[in-house]
Amino acid sequence: MAVRRKLVAGNWKMNGLCEEGSALARSLAHRAISAAAGGPACELLVCPPATLLKTVGGLLTGSGIALGGQDCHAAAKGAHTGDISPEMLADAGCSHVILGHSERRYGHGESDASVREKIRGAWRAGLVAILCVGETQPQRHAGKAIEVVAGQLAESIPGGAASDNLVIAYEPVWAIGTGLTATLEDIAAMHGEIRTGLPAGTRILYGGSVNPQNAAGILGLTDVDGALVGGASLDPKSFAAIVQY
Ligand code: PEP
Repeated sequence: MAVRRKLVAGNWKMNGLCEEGSALARSLAHRAISAAAGGPACELLVCPPATLLKTVGGLLTGSGIALGGQDCHAAAKGAHTGDISPEMLADAGCSHVILGHSERRYGHGESDASVREKIRGAWRAGLVAILCVGETQPQRHAGKAIEVVAGQLAESIPGGAASDNLVIAYEPVWAIGTGLTATLEDIAAMHGEIRTGLPAGTRILYGGSVNPQNAAGILGLTDVDGALVGGASLDPKSFAAIVQY
């Protein structure tokens, strides 16, 4: 059976001017390097705003912490004002990109079809796509959570998926930034369902108000291969506690 090393990713969202983003990156790099003697427990990734990619990437050099984008356009270049291509992310030092985050799906009207094209673009540029899926509160209450997530996976993942180019992040929409988390039973059930349709060895992260108090229980579940962390990733102490450097 393939060993799936845990991955903890910090999604800074639209937070961080140069000074505070740099301070956060320095603190994370320092903690990661100090922990390296004992071997970090898991793989680490930070996804700062695009304006800080180069700065943060520079500060993380040698720390072992990878750099990711929060979104990208599907095309390599062209007349797409305000967009960033996968190639630009790779050029800025990224190895990963978050795609299909609910704040993109619901805030920017992104469909499964557009997410699928973005994943194709990410792979073209050599990036690992972190595909976010998750149900809304009404969908869960209607007993449709598994059906909704299965549909998103079926419609968003292009042919050619493999364990080294795709990571899934199960993020119940109602748990993001709300302080609410799914129960361990629901997380385990959903991750088990998701795994049935994926290439062997594909990592499935949980996201939705992960914090130092609930991380151990969530990360201890068999089919949870790490976490996508929003709010708590902005505080180096909280992020370190989740990661357990
Ligand atoms: C996220 O942005 O993907 C997320 C899970 O945010 P939070 O941890 O703040 O809920």
